Amino acid sequence: MRLLLAPRSLSEIAAKCRGKKRDRPFDPSRGAMLPPSHQTDFAGMKLPPFEYACPTSVAEAVALLATCDGEAMPLAGGQSLVPMLAFRAAAPALLVDLRMLEELRQIRIMRDGVRLGAMVRWCDILDDARLATAHPLLVAAIAHVAHFQIRNRGTVGGSIAHADPAAEMPAIAVACEAEITVVSEAGNRTIAAADFFLGALTTALMRDEIVIEVRLPAWPSRRRFGFEEFARRRGDFAVAAAALFYDEDAVRKVRNAHIGVIGAADRPLRLRAVEDMLSGHVVDEAVIGKAGAAASAAVDPPSDIHAGAAYRRSLIGTLVERALRSAAA
Ligand code: FAD
Repeated sequence: MRLLLAPRSLSEIAAKCRGKKRDRPFDPSRGAMLPPSHQTDFAGMKLPPFEYACPTSVAEAVALLATCDGEAMPLAGGQSLVPMLAFRAAAPALLVDLRMLEELRQIRIMRDGVRLGAMVRWCDILDDARLATAHPLLVAAIAHVAHFQIRNRGTVGGSIAHADPAAEMPAIAVACEAEITVVSEAGNRTIAAADFFLGALTTALMRDEIVIEVRLPAWPSRRRFGFEEFARRRGDFAVAAAALFYDEDAVRKVRNAHIGVIGAADRPLRLRAVEDMLSGHVVDEAVIGKAGAAASAAVDPPSDIHAGAAYRRSLIGTLVERALRSAAA
């Protein structure tokens, strides 16, 4: 284990963390989150104080998380966590930096699908020519993530663990029925993406667990797909997006349709009613129109500062139509 600030034993770190144990009146899935009423605790400082550790193996990282009794948080690229610290939305006693964990940086194309290590960055996905055929829907979606500075640091595991409802990777995971492997001192477990995302910034991840890998099931070469997104400016988080794919039988009728959408709820959604509606049909303009209408009818989005519910509902129908048109072209 390498500690960049000051070399300490696990027990010393644990003692430090215990000293920093804080109220947690609201309890998202990970880390110590502070409500606004507590935010003056650190007035005058940019980030709240924390211990910092930079382990060189996954085993060391999970040992550190376990030591701090829920008061530690993993740090990947810092693209969400550092702003959260700055806004006092998180105040962990210890940051466990995952940057030295080379074992989490691999993209593996296997017979059973694409395996993305948690520390794979967006730029790694976009730069990997194999993925153009191994998972073109993933590449199409990740091309919409933020700006290149953020794509150079943001990671698959960070995005999955952060569970922003407007993020592309969780939507791809849900649409594609990905499996998410996590590890703690108790061992590994694998969670279906459908069971992983519980709400905005809330997941099935326990405080002492680290995401280590996301597996996207194998992608047949003739599969059809589309990804369409609307954001206010290029690189902004999506107001809404649709990710879909389907296979065709010998007479081009749809089978195995999967549709995931962003912007309809506090987490990515599968539109199973629309998938069922498409099944057995050739995708033509009439079917595309019906699918768009069915997609709008299937969602009950919230209103927020970015868009009203009626606008989001209409937008999701339009994006599903566009994605289907692009898939069928
Ligand atoms: P961090 O910020 O380091 O961590 C995020 C959270 O995940 C923390 O709670 C941390 O403890 C936890 N965590 C990190 N890694 C792990 C792990 N392996 N296991 C368990 N927990 C872990 N994203 C999009 O999808 N689309 C966008 O359009 C988009 N636009 C952005 C625009 C801006 C200006 C910024 C700053 C970010 C944007 N992002 C967007 C987010 C970005 O894509 C990051 O990938 C994402 O925030 C995760 O960041 P990170 O990997 O650096 O994780």
